[in-house]
Amino acid sequence: MLTIDGHCDLLSSLLEKGLESFNDNNEQISRERWHLGGPDLLVTAIYVSQKYLPQQKEAKALQMAGIFWKLVANKEFVPVLFREDLVSKGKKALLAIEGGEPISTKEDLFAFYRLGVRMLSLTWNYQNHLATGCLESYPGGLTQKAKEIIPTAEKLGMILDVSHLSQESFWQLLEITTNPIVASHSNAAGLYQHPRNLTDQQLGAIAKRGGVIGVNFCPEFLSEKTQKTVLKQIIYITKTIGSSHVGIGSDFLGISESVDDLEHLGKWLSLDKELKNAGFNERERENILGGNFQRVFDQVLKSTV
Ligand SMILES: [Zn+2]
Repeated sequence: MLTIDGHCDLLSSLLEKGLESFNDNNEQISRERWHLGGPDLLVTAIYVSQKYLPQQKEAKALQMAGIFWKLVANKEFVPVLFREDLVSKGKKALLAIEGGEPISTKEDLFAFYRLGVRMLSLTWNYQNHLATGCLESYPGGLTQKAKEIIPTAEKLGMILDVSHLSQESFWQLLEITTNPIVASHSNAAGLYQHPRNLTDQQLGAIAKRGGVIGVNFCPEFLSEKTQKTVLKQIIYITKTIGSSHVGIGSDFLGISESVDDLEHLGKWLSLDKELKNAGFNERERENILGGNFQRVFDQVLKSTV
């Protein structure tokens, strides 16, 4: 069974800092920290910062895809493009797009798929040409354009990510999709009210679809800045929808502050011990730390044959 982190912002961080590689041990993610105590697979997102919108949306997205493939060429990790890649040796990364700004047409989707993108979230916190995000002050769902391209994304074998969507966008997306979906980096609102957190009804719908919620380490979405509150989220979601639908989505390098004892990727695997102390059995721990995401990736990704 793999250990998997459902979301991090390594690519946008390298882009912003103009760095060639991730060897700074003061960062939440470094090569050493990943190898020392990090998961087998990291989902790394192309996230085009608001300051680049709208003019540079395609250019910056391409630059981040380029960074991903440069890291592959430097043998930092193996890209997960197909189901079979999940069992390849060594550290692995799956390329995602967080915010659909660079995607205007179905053809764009085909292009980004060929660039390696296998996970798609339609929008970040705000409104774009595809969907309304969870931090908009007004209600709003999917646009006609989104309804046109989503079936293509599903057919290609892209995993749809509902973190950051508004309530309306979330429910409309469920109506027009059939594959399991993920909330790659989201917490439960039943434990802590925040527009980024998911209601019990949303958790239930994700579980019913066979999907996974990756618990987020961002202190803003937790009530306290401690590892215990991350555990509380895992326990709450497990109690609400079962341990088969819980995962981890650290949001490292997308968060400016981190929780105590989970400050960086080198501490990621320490969660296993904490889960054991909290009473989770071996199978549950394996599932939470990656098995559940692996199940969804295995179901949605295409096979090489
Ligand atoms: Zn995010």
